Amino acid sequence: MLPDYAEHEEAIGLNWYEADPNLAFILDHLIPEEKYRSFAEDHSWTFGELVGKSLAARAEQTDKHGPVLVRYDRWGEEICKIEHHPTWLANKADLIRNGFVGLPAHAGHPVPHVLMSSLSYQVCQAETAAYCALGMTVEAAEMINRYAPDAVREEFHRRLCSLDPTEAWEGGMFLTERQGGSDVGANTTAAFPDGDEWLIRGDKHFCSNVDADLFIILARPVGAQPGPKGLATFAMPRRLPDGSSNAFHIKRLKPKLGTIGVPTAEVTLSGARAWLLAPQHAPAVESLADADGWDPARDGKGLRRMMEMVDESRYGVALMGLGIQRRSFLEASIYAARRQQFGERIDAYPLVRETLVDMLVDLEGGAAMTFECAAAADTADGIRTPESGLAEREEASLLRRILIPLAKMRATRNAINTASAALEVLGGNGYMEDWPLARQLRDAQANTVWEGTDNILCMDVLRAMRKEKAHAPLLARLERTLDASPQHPLLEDPANALFAALGSLNESLDHLAMAPQDVVNLQARRFAELLADIAEGTLLLEEASWSLDRDGDARKAVIARRFAKKKFGYTPSRGITDPDRTVIDLFEPLVRYGRIEPDALSGSA
Ligand SMILES: Cc1cc2nc3c(=O)[nH]c(=O)nc-3n(C[C@H](O)[C@H](O)[C@H](O)COP(=O)(O)OP(=O)(O)OC[C@H]3O[C@@H](n4cnc5c(N)ncnc54)[C@H](O)[C@@H]3O)c2cc1C
Repeated sequence: MLPDYAEHEEAIGLNWYEADPNLAFILDHLIPEEKYRSFAEDHSWTFGELVGKSLAARAEQTDKHGPVLVRYDRWGEEICKIEHHPTWLANKADLIRNGFVGLPAHAGHPVPHVLMSSLSYQVCQAETAAYCALGMTVEAAEMINRYAPDAVREEFHRRLCSLDPTEAWEGGMFLTERQGGSDVGANTTAAFPDGDEWLIRGDKHFCSNVDADLFIILARPVGAQPGPKGLATFAMPRRLPDGSSNAFHIKRLKPKLGTIGVPTAEVTLSGARAWLLAPQHAPAVESLADADGWDPARDGKGLRRMMEMVDESRYGVALMGLGIQRRSFLEASIYAARRQQFGERIDAYPLVRETLVDMLVDLEGGAAMTFECAAAADTADGIRTPESGLAEREEASLLRRILIPLAKMRATRNAINTASAALEVLGGNGYMEDWPLARQLRDAQANTVWEGTDNILCMDVLRAMRKEKAHAPLLARLERTLDASPQHPLLEDPANALFAALGSLNESLDHLAMAPQDVVNLQARRFAELLADIAEGTLLLEEASWSLDRDGDARKAVIARRFAKKKFGYTPSRGITDPDRTVIDLFEPLVRYGRIEPDALSGSA
């Protein structure tokens, strides 16, 4: 069990990996191979030191000294330079040096996505703004590797993955224009061919990490059809290979509520040089004549390629939500252990206990679903189960496809709720900017918007089902898990509740299949919420069962039971008559991650 939270003055200064035994539990559960697990241990621990002891303190400074745009130099020349506080630059340099971006390119062996998620989750507890900047760098590197032409691929990729902050590049992504972020099909930014390269003209309305070095950008090649199918994806460097500036003008920095460190700007592109991102060879064709007509800039798939980056970025935003939840829980737990009112520590009071335990239930449910996306990526890439065949890998890709929008929707909404509840645990101090939770709440609010609002994510879940049948492997995965878990008597009740919920989900699927489209759209949020609840509840049950089998420890079973009860349980009189004392009696081992004997649950609900 962890030490009493009262022993700490604040979260900053702790090793955030050591302080979070649930993260080690997730790595144990999802990285079965010993050689990868010990590699993950080393890196997660190093990041725990780095983030908890250095990055987190600097992030507080950065938030109070946001970036400034210097448009012109003293000669009146346009320079569009962003000046940052040194703490922002120091954090990014430390992350680059420690492989936050470049580890997979430099490790010399496959690096599990689960490990990279563990590092990201920790960084997000300190500074989602820095994660935004370097997370987009990771995704830009993948896009370059997959789609950039030979002329630039190697150099762009090398720079993005460099471990040397003096030469490393950062990435960004420009989709949104004034007329719409959800509806990118309305984009008007145009791309004009110039030999093998392209010149981009237009305005982008939200450009985060605007002083990065390489942007993945959506534009419409001249002559392409209107709407989403006419869009193509390009790589646009900030500076040209000869060192001169690209035709790129920052109009202004946006006055944001949160994520202050990362500069978000409005940008005008006046013929900025770019390279098309598309497959380098024609897809298999029936005849040479078909190959002759192949036009990768206008093949109708440019937006789909950009969505590969958006999907990864959405996954990153889910980790931001989880990071904010975890930081909020840690800060609130420490404060509640140290603060006395009416002669008692406030964490002795049942209502405070319930608040803290329910923060953990939401966090661990969200973590189970979000890290499942990373585990699916490891299966798809053959890292987790090298023996899995093509069909299994394709299923894992589909699983990830549908879980990502669910994970982002759930973790980012819960982050706002958890940061708000944690702020209240700190009372009036919580509302003040010299305590850590006001920033967490401000930052949390960005995450339900960027990379797609909740509504857009719910619609994306429906699209993944309709177009890719991505729900089939998810439902099969959940059914298999539920079939296995009632072997544990402690898990019988939640498993039955989840089975019943799965039944009602299947009924709603039949209903929606016959419903008019506007009714389907109306129900999209309710449907996605139900699916997310069932997925989180079932994955928690799997973790609980695994923990009982391995260690005879029922802590996770308590979490899984409480989750199922909150989401699916029938509690008469709104639970007021419920004799359940779990949050009072098991508070210490729950919030300090201690062992709970299965017998301790008899009598509790
Ligand atoms: C801090 C910050 C940084 C950002 N950084 C970037 C960046 O680096 N690059 C970038 O490209 N973009 C960036 N964005 C833009 C962001 O991705 C968009 O704001 C977001 O996608 C929403 O688009 P919008 O603002 O145009 O809202 P709109 O699309 O106008 O949406 C307004 C409302 O209408 C709802 N809505 C729209 N369509 C539907 C529908 N079909 N059904 C139901 N409801 C609907 C939405 O859910 C939303 O509630 C950033 C945004 C923020 C806040």
